Amino acid sequence: MTDHYENVKVQHGQINPNGEEAEEEDDNEEQVPVSSPSVCASPDPIITTPGTDASTSSNVGKRNCKSGVKAVGDDENSSGNPNSNFPWPVVPPYTMKNFNSPGSGQQALKIKGLGRILQGESESNGNYPSKTIQASCKDGFGFSRRPVTVDSSKAKTSLKALKLCIKRLKWKEFPLGRRAPCDIYWHGVSFHDNENIVSGLVNKFPGMVEMLRKINLSRAMRTMQELFPEEYNFYPRSWILPEEYRQFSAQIRLLKEKDTTMNTTFIVKPDGGSQGDGIYLIRDPSDLKPMVGSQAKQAVVQEYIPKPLLIDKLKFDIRLYVLIKSLEPLEIYIAKEGLTRFCTEPYEEPSQKNLSHVFMHLTNYSLNVHSGNFVHSDSQSTGSKRTLSSVLYRLAAKGVDIKWVWSDIIALVIKTSIAVVPELKVYYQADIPPGKPGPTCFQILGFDILLTKNLKPVLLEVNASPSMRIEHEQEVAPGVFEYVPSPVDKEVKVDVIRDTLRLMDPLNKDSTPSPQLKAGEFEHGEEIPVDSESQGRSPDENLPSLCLKQVYPKYSKEFNYLRLVERITALFIRFLGVKDNMRLGPTAFRTFIRTCKLNNSNFTMASVDVLYINITRRRSCAIPDSREAGMGLQAFVEAFFYLAGRRFKFLVLKEQVVSLLSLCEAQLGPPSSVEDRRSLSCSRALPRAARTQTLCLPDAQSSSPATQRRATSHDYRLHQKLKPRTLRTNVEN
Ligand code: ADP
Repeated sequence: MTDHYENVKVQHGQINPNGEEAEEEDDNEEQVPVSSPSVCASPDPIITTPGTDASTSSNVGKRNCKSGVKAVGDDENSSGNPNSNFPWPVVPPYTMKNFNSPGSGQQALKIKGLGRILQGESESNGNYPSKTIQASCKDGFGFSRRPVTVDSSKAKTSLKALKLCIKRLKWKEFPLGRRAPCDIYWHGVSFHDNENIVSGLVNKFPGMVEMLRKINLSRAMRTMQELFPEEYNFYPRSWILPEEYRQFSAQIRLLKEKDTTMNTTFIVKPDGGSQGDGIYLIRDPSDLKPMVGSQAKQAVVQEYIPKPLLIDKLKFDIRLYVLIKSLEPLEIYIAKEGLTRFCTEPYEEPSQKNLSHVFMHLTNYSLNVHSGNFVHSDSQSTGSKRTLSSVLYRLAAKGVDIKWVWSDIIALVIKTSIAVVPELKVYYQADIPPGKPGPTCFQILGFDILLTKNLKPVLLEVNASPSMRIEHEQEVAPGVFEYVPSPVDKEVKVDVIRDTLRLMDPLNKDSTPSPQLKAGEFEHGEEIPVDSESQGRSPDENLPSLCLKQVYPKYSKEFNYLRLVERITALFIRFLGVKDNMRLGPTAFRTFIRTCKLNNSNFTMASVDVLYINITRRRSCAIPDSREAGMGLQAFVEAFFYLAGRRFKFLVLKEQVVSLLSLCEAQLGPPSSVEDRRSLSCSRALPRAARTQTLCLPDAQSSSPATQRRATSHDYRLHQKLKPRTLRTNVEN
């Protein structure tokens, strides 16, 4: 494995040394190129699952095999009926010309209700008719308005796609930045790419990069798994190294003792890694590689999914684009179109022999592109990178009920977002506290999802800065690489950026979706209505309907009960005390206990201090070089679970937590106006009037000068710690 893997890395380094190459296009008057997509046949469209015969569609989980393959004309969805039952804008057969699934002869499945994809290929490929690019900027009602201004100076590898979108929307780009404020700042990596933004919109949330690192994401998912084991079983069992090495070894040893034939495989992922960097498979804890350097020691070891769904005998994963439009209130949109990234070596279930075959087990584009078998295709349904709709189309053609798969995917996205939002709120109020002018944030995330053989979506990771590059490297001469346009990337990513901008349009009052959207019937197998009237309406009739569909608050009724940690976070934020702070000191923790009346003769304040010390010390010991002091949100949640368990012994954890929350909330009463603004700052920049106000705490102790001083010096350390790291992002992974 090592040799093979390192070879790949060397080549990759040669080709893409910094991973963040900016485009050399400063010309605001750039004309959008026009090209037509080429038609390419699928070489081998047979869908297989591991260890099964490709010709039997029944191998794909039974619940999904509803009605078998339908040919053109057989299916009501092929009739052009706009009320299609398919929730998904499945790509029409122009890329599926030679579709050749067993039993269906050469018939092509045609599914309608497909929105923009059916309406115009050139449109969906980002090739816009020049008549729509006009000098004047008018809204859909014929009124001129000033163009929205966008600072693209930090857009990095998303620059090319962003330029196309700004042009298309007739907005104004400032490629070198601008002295006066812009309406929107487009950052390539993190919130801090431009410092000192005090107004407008930024396309990154503070803390998102940190929150979505492998260890933090695993912790957040585990917290949710403890509360809601059934609901969060889409995330593989994971252990955090080095702190949970003992538990990991002990659990595996126990399992092996119980079942000597057990041969579970695990995947080890370094915490800060991306693009498959440093990832390897093991079958026994003793196979863990010793790692050098304190940072490198931190990793997640995770149960490996041994039976993924295969297409053309290859493992693949899904890259889904998700827009977090706001944290408070939580608003989530999912892009109807995504990408699928294919391995380049036929899949076999893991065995000692093949553990090191990265081209078989890892779907990362950045790795597989260096395999001799990687296929760059202009078609969306062939090659090593395809559109999600083309893959779903093939599954549908095999009789799979893709509505079911899609609703599972939506649920996965909403649940994962609910898991990460609490900590993001803490970051948000620390970076943009009430009283400090700041921008409003939104962010496009890249969800990496694997479908199992039984079509269950599994979350692999969430990318804070998914690559928005619309070109790929090509070897134009031996050893000489150039970036050339990638039609598949362009097809998907340009639409996602354009529609994100449309949804965030600060000058369009309609860009905020109607709060009266009806909650959908969120049941498996149910149609997920695509309400193009309310969600896809565009004031500019030349623009296609939105490719981003709101899923939250649309499905809030179905998922709100999961938002328990957010309620714990609201308590945490109330007791943080000093703005810009992210950690509770021991005094603030005591104040919380006292104010909520959680201490008594059986649980004295001395026990409270012991609890505080135990939890915070254990967490900082786990990270040997940690200089962070105090109790972070995850430690506070752990303490809260402990307190809930003590108080309500005979309930299950979820009920214990609900009961303790109700008790604390009743003791505290509604938040003060400043606290309220503090939580609201997660969504909106505050008015100037609020800037001079200080935070009122429920207990005088927390705002005593000594506490303030301690916290302030800690704030400074913390702020240093939170300064953006050099990140390798924006390279397709
Ligand atoms: P990175 O950020 O380095 O890309 P990922 O978590 O995305 O790390 O893992 C890289 C690749 O490894 C994924 O794209 C997927 O193909 C494979 N992979 C990751 N986790 C699992 C898992 N639990 N089971 C099976 N395959 C996995």
